[in-house]
Amino acid sequence: MTIDNDLVLKAIEKFGQSAQIDMVIEECSELITALQHYKRSKPDISRSIDQVNEEIADVFIVLHMAYRMFDELAINHHIRSKQVRLWSRILESHS
Ligand SMILES: [Mg+2]
Repeated sequence: MTIDNDLVLKAIEKFGQSAQIDMVIEECSELITALQHYKRSKPDISRSIDQVNEEIADVFIVLHMAYRMFDELAINHHIRSKQVRLWSRILESHS
């Protein structure tokens, strides 16, 4: 899934970086809560899955905003090195 880059840049421009950072914090918090409900809820599991899916979508969008507001090259560097580290941990556990 690709996030609309123009939309993200316009939102940062219109609402400002500080408000968008607040959105990142708020949406991550909502995802945490939805995941906690999902792990606890047995009878109403489909509603919990819907909530988790919606909050993942929100976090996906605001993380794209965060990516644009902070240092994309540094973030890319961290993503690459963390993926390498995860691969090595996976491969270590198979040996
Ligand atoms: Mg949300």
